[in-house]
Amino acid sequence: MADVCSSCKNQVTNMKGMVRFSCPGCGKVEFVRCQRCRANAVQYKCQECGFSGPN
Ligand SMILES: [Zn+2]
Ligand SMILES: [Zn+2]
Repeated sequence: MADVCSSCKNQVTNMKGMVRFSCPGCGKVEFVRCQRCRANAVQYKCQECGFSGPN
């Protein structure tokens, strides 16, 4: 299964600077973010608990 960025949906498998983390709100959902979305502070939102970040 390929990893895709939770924000831009680009494939991030083995991409330098990508991060993977559990939702800070509920811990159930895993987010993946690419370096570009981190740099641009692109928003992501959890479908489970409604948490949204970049923080
Ligand atoms: Zn992205
Ligand atoms: Zn959540």
